Amino acid sequence: MIVRHAKKNLIGLTLEQVKHELQAAPTVKPYTALQIWQHMYRHGSTSFRTMTNLPTTLRDHLHSHYTLDYGHVQSDQTSVDGTRKWLVGFNDPRAVVESVLIPEPKRHTLCVSSQIGCSLRCSFCHTGTQKLLRNLTAGEIVGQVMLAAHGVRQFEQQGQNSITRKKLLSHMVFMGQGEPLYNPRQVFQAIQVLTDRQGLQWPKQKITVSTSGVVPLIPKISELGVALAISLHATRNSLRDVLVPLNKTFPMETLMDACTQYARDSNGQRITFEYVMLDGVNDSMGEARDLVKLLKQLPAHVNLIPFNPWPGSIYKTSKPEQVERFAETVQNGGIYCTVRRPRGQDILAACGQLRSSEERKRATAAAAAL
Ligand code: SAH
Ligand code: SF4
Repeated sequence: MIVRHAKKNLIGLTLEQVKHELQAAPTVKPYTALQIWQHMYRHGSTSFRTMTNLPTTLRDHLHSHYTLDYGHVQSDQTSVDGTRKWLVGFNDPRAVVESVLIPEPKRHTLCVSSQIGCSLRCSFCHTGTQKLLRNLTAGEIVGQVMLAAHGVRQFEQQGQNSITRKKLLSHMVFMGQGEPLYNPRQVFQAIQVLTDRQGLQWPKQKITVSTSGVVPLIPKISELGVALAISLHATRNSLRDVLVPLNKTFPMETLMDACTQYARDSNGQRITFEYVMLDGVNDSMGEARDLVKLLKQLPAHVNLIPFNPWPGSIYKTSKPEQVERFAETVQNGGIYCTVRRPRGQDILAACGQLRSSEERKRATAAAAAL
């Protein structure tokens, strides 16, 4: 019986790991791994056959043992406001995630997922109602970025100056499905690959890891040099315990201490505090003033996110004038405050809506089949 071994994916491995893989390959020179790496990440090659500066025997060896697999695009939708959403499938048929590209005048931000589902069950988040299926691998995280880079034709712009090229995909946030700090090994490895100076060269400050408050891993974010966002959503433990249940494990005092330490370790790098605006729950002027008190010692940026409703959720979105007044109070307290405009709503690409749209379609299809 012939046993076929699955080919190993080189996407998501670090340069060191690629070097290690090449130990058993023929005609390898000290610079071979780097040549392959640059084909992968400078040129976006998806086939070893096109790496024509490598000897044929090596290309054949690579082709029969390895793949360059980003995952496959199951759908690619563009909203009327320009927001683009890819539904990406991986080898395992249950593994489907969404990545969203949000074009703005000064930045084009890619929002990637780190897990399929989430175990943390924040009460306002639709992802939290979908149980955790599994962590994504570093390859599946890097794959989302590579698919988006190809989607915006980044590699075809090699002739352009780097400024033009980088505008196509300038920022990246781990704000899709999942809690990135519950999948730290794969997320950190993906960051290492993305920021490698001989490869994609993502600037570290343009990658933001958003966490619901996994306190013990916050020092690792400053060590990696990437930006930090905290999903705060409340100004006192009693409410945060309900909105973000992880708060019972890591209460706000410990979270604020970790943020203070992050600010020290990263030379005052600004921390984004996300605050979902829930009508009558956390949007009073008293809470706006408490937020100022809580954050005034930190280099903080408050980003207010009007709640994106989903079927069955118990919350309502704060009224626009309430969001405005809240923002004004925070701003008047001396804290930089922005309001996130809902983007891509016609294609269900907004925060907290990811994947749920597809699940809804599946549920509808299943119901129709009965
Ligand atoms: N798990 C991480 C990152 C993914 S969630 C975290 O919680 O930080 C990205 C952001 O979207 C978080 O701030 C989250 O609280 C917010 N969010 C989740 N559901 C939302 C909804 N329905 N409306 C608005 N924001 C939501
Ligand atoms: Fe998970 Fe973040 Fe949603 Fe909370 S807000 S359930 S941590 S994805």
